Amino acid sequence: MLKITCPFCGPRNESEFVHGGPEKPRRPEDPAALSDTDWIDHLTVPDNPMGPVREKWWHLRGCGQWVTITRDTVSHDILDEDGHDRR
Ligand SMILES: [Zn+2]
Repeated sequence: MLKITCPFCGPRNESEFVHGGPEKPRRPEDPAALSDTDWIDHLTVPDNPMGPVREKWWHLRGCGQWVTITRDTVSHDILDEDGHDRR
């Protein structure tokens, strides 16, 4: 089980959170300049990389805030911004 640190509540078990998926890339400056295929990909096809991923977690059974963490999708280690293991 993951131990996720909520900035408001402190370290909590993963069971208190709902996974919100990877952080979305920024909206393109000019969506009209994209092809329909590229726009549909931006809106609907999430990246699924192996390794460190910035992702959102909703502290549903706690304070109700969204938390962004960096998690290694291979090892499930939670990393800080410098890539160091926080557990
Ligand atoms: Zn919280």
